Amino acid sequence: MDFEAERRRLVSWLKRAGFLASAKVERALLAVPRELFVPEELRELAYDDRPLPIGHGQTISAPSVVARMTELLDPDVGHRVLEVGTGSGYQAAVLAEIVAPTGAPRESWGHVWSIERIPELAEQARRNLERAGYSDRVTVVVGDGTLGYPEEAPYDRIMVTAAAPSIPPPLLEQLRVGGRLVAPIGDRWSQRLVVAEKTPRGVETWEDIEVLFVPLVGRYGWHP
Ligand code: SAM
Repeated sequence: MDFEAERRRLVSWLKRAGFLASAKVERALLAVPRELFVPEELRELAYDDRPLPIGHGQTISAPSVVARMTELLDPDVGHRVLEVGTGSGYQAAVLAEIVAPTGAPRESWGHVWSIERIPELAEQARRNLERAGYSDRVTVVVGDGTLGYPEEAPYDRIMVTAAAPSIPPPLLEQLRVGGRLVAPIGDRWSQRLVVAEKTPRGVETWEDIEVLFVPLVGRYGWHP
């Protein structure tokens, strides 16, 4: 299978369907090999617009959702980004390709910290990121991401890729003023993408499209 041709076909469809608008997100989706983040036996499906199982009852999100969430987050070169819910590591790689572009001077690079609660998935994501060439731009941490990762705070951008009943307060605390957070918020069976911006006057939020994510399990998420 010609994965590069498949990637170009998917990206052009994501643009036509309105999930993808900016040059930076388009470049990142064209650069990151999604086939390296899905299980070997599902590689042929890597460029279909659907979530795929990655083990332990978890999924890699559909490319349209990755595109939309990345557009809403609006990351930039040099940003420090926190992702909650590493899963396969694919979304972290897409974020890394924007904040620390391949080929750009290293002094300009930002960094992505990504937290995963299931140790086996974190290990698998580290391997995927290594193979795809992103292990120097993404640090995978095992833990309860509803508590954030205070060790590297504050962050310019925070993305949550599991469904939460509300935005975990520690994440808003660890977001810098002027920073932005995107998360799927709702009940277990239906959520909306919520964008939160931290301003000097407080936090402003607005809603985007409806989505369906696996639950965020932790102190400020759902209980196991
Ligand atoms: N971003 C991922 C990718 O690119 O493959 C997809 C994320 S998957 C839909 C959600 C992930 O969130 C799962 O791997 C799940 O184990 C993880 N998760 C759930 N609750 C969590 C928590 N409190 N802290 C960290 N990770 C969590």
